[in-house]
Amino acid sequence: GNQQRVEVNILLLGAHNVGKSALTVRFLTRRFIGEYGDIESVYSRVDRIDGQEICFNIWDSQSTQAGEKCSSLSDKQLQWADGMILVYSICDRGSFNVVQQQLQQIRRSRKPSSVPVLIVGNKRDLQRHRTVSSEEGRLLALSQRCGFFEVSAAETYHGVLLVFHRLVDLVRETRALR
Ligand code: GDP
Ligand code: MG
Repeated sequence: GNQQRVEVNILLLGAHNVGKSALTVRFLTRRFIGEYGDIESVYSRVDRIDGQEICFNIWDSQSTQAGEKCSSLSDKQLQWADGMILVYSICDRGSFNVVQQQLQQIRRSRKPSSVPVLIVGNKRDLQRHRTVSSEEGRLLALSQRCGFFEVSAAETYHGVLLVFHRLVDLVRETRALR
């Protein structure tokens, strides 16, 4: 196979407090530490998938303002990304709305065929507080031709790993078609 290292830029988006940093740290370290700063940062991790070295560059975006509902995306973020993960919390209706707003913004600057997007409902462990049904998440993803996952950064590493690996598969498919 191809021995060259593949670089994949992944941008995490979504409202404040939905677990973007928790998902990033879970993926990078396999651990859930519970409290995260609000630091804008790009992290890297190299993985071998099917014999191919993949370098994940993960941009854990900062929420514009704590509690602010609509965070607008910068052109730099939009152009940098090879793939995007739009995160909401299944117990925060407002964060689901933010995902819809950010999707519209993404679609204005990037064609669906040029950047794969996954919609991720996080905090699946908090079932009792759920305000966004799985069905709603799935329907939004279907209508926007995005992938869909529900996960819990707090509970499992495996589900989080699947999300990142799925996105890398999609990014590589997208590149192969170019
Ligand atoms: P961000 O603002 O989107 O980066 O959100 P953080 O990653 O900082 O997480 C916000 C809060 O939600 C923190 O207190 C986390 O411990 C908590 N959190 C993140 N993911 C989960 C999860 O899957 N389940 C639960 N119960 N709490 C979570
Ligand atoms: Mg954060």
